[in-house]
Amino acid sequence: LAEKMKVPSSALIKKLFLEGKVVTINQEITFEEAEEIALEYDIIAEKEVKVNELEELLKDQEDDPSTLVKRPPVVCVMGHVDHGKTSLLDAIRQTNVTAKEAGGITQHIGAYTVEINGEKITFLDTPGHEAFTSMRMRGAQATDIAILVVAADDGVMPQTVEAISHAKAAGVQIIVAINKIDKPSANIERVKQELTEYNLIAEDWGGDTIMVPVSAHTKEGIDQLLEMILLTAEIEELKANPNRKARGLVIEAQLDKGRGPVATILVQKGTLRVGDNIAVGSSYGKVRAMIDENGRKVKEATPSTPVEILGLNSVPDVGEIFVVTDTEKEARHIAEVYIAQSKEKLVAETKSKITLDGLFSQIQAGNIKDLNLIIKADVQGSVEALKQSLVKLSNEEVAVRVIHGGVGAINESDVILASTSNAIIIGFNVKPDNIAKERAEQEKVEIKLYKVIYNAINDVEAAIKGLLDPVF
Ligand code: GDP
Repeated sequence: LAEKMKVPSSALIKKLFLEGKVVTINQEITFEEAEEIALEYDIIAEKEVKVNELEELLKDQEDDPSTLVKRPPVVCVMGHVDHGKTSLLDAIRQTNVTAKEAGGITQHIGAYTVEINGEKITFLDTPGHEAFTSMRMRGAQATDIAILVVAADDGVMPQTVEAISHAKAAGVQIIVAINKIDKPSANIERVKQELTEYNLIAEDWGGDTIMVPVSAHTKEGIDQLLEMILLTAEIEELKANPNRKARGLVIEAQLDKGRGPVATILVQKGTLRVGDNIAVGSSYGKVRAMIDENGRKVKEATPSTPVEILGLNSVPDVGEIFVVTDTEKEARHIAEVYIAQSKEKLVAETKSKITLDGLFSQIQAGNIKDLNLIIKADVQGSVEALKQSLVKLSNEEVAVRVIHGGVGAINESDVILASTSNAIIIGFNVKPDNIAKERAEQEKVEIKLYKVIYNAINDVEAAIKGLLDPVF
């Protein structure tokens, strides 16, 4: 402190001595004491935050392979609106009779667990890829397997394609549920045919994507779908160490009138127990109670288990990572560092977003070798034409990748995908809707609009020329 204030340490020791505090030069004083002394010299003391302190505090310890045991898969449901995501989640939940037998009251906490053949599966019950991707935006991944719901009477639709792109960008396994097979107009083979265009090829078509025909209404195929999820989980060898301090994610959170801040968390590693000290983003506290999806109080939650927790001092954000600490003081410290650092982090993240114009300098600074693009156009023919021309611009040094292409206005989902994948959005004869426009501004995602295909290709090519390392 003396060094920072540029005064002799003896002066500070003397000052403290006069206040009745006998200290030596090797002794630590509290921040409050330091603040008080500094003030006497007209200096405002601020807690110093190390640049990577938060990363260090939240750093995950690697578990020894011998400590790992099997954990249930965490599954989300994605797909086009009205294709039956909600109905399917309800149907799956109803087939799980154990909860009802035990007299529990089903309640929505953002996730639930079902048991089949003595094995558990955890479902995130907020359908749609917005929830899925907003978690990824915080660098967290909750899901192991994505169920892509496609209505057999409607086939592949724009949001089906979005969902595929989101799942692929996240590297999540896709299982297709071809829904509404009870309908006379259902055409399972047509759905399989359409999906081949997106590299999802059914096993009976010579591919390796699991596709299960189901009906959320008649419950046909539901058991088979659950078995396929377990089979996929088995192959993925999903494991975690339950015997360590817990760590996981917030999947839902709100302020409850009677109970205060309530968060549903998904334990990913370790075991969370009532009484544990916990830090979650800018919030912290002691777990006062844990409630499962059947409204029952539980004392502990193991990996892949979702529980509602009470006891936080404020409402955390969805997608935030939680960690258990030894002391409450430590938990508070993490929250404080988080608050101090999040502003700087936001600025830093904003700066690193890719733009076509700034590509050259960004490349020079960070050596970006992939140019990720999202293409939206008024007709599928234009999407394909642009895609093919743009990908062809790739060379040895720069890979142009189209991570998503679709027909229709540029929407929020496109912007979120662009943000998480550091992509630029190219619109041809389409515009962003208002929400997308706002979101793009927030996320600093670049949207380039064109009316002539040639211009789009030209622009990207020019940017790529700048991308190239100078050859001597
Ligand atoms: P979401 O928007 O994807 O969540 O779709 P919903 O679950 O809300 O379902 C949309 C509509 O399709 C509703 O009217 C459902 O009753 C209907 N639906 C969902 N699954 C099935 C099914 O398996 N068979 C039939 N016939 N209708 C279904």
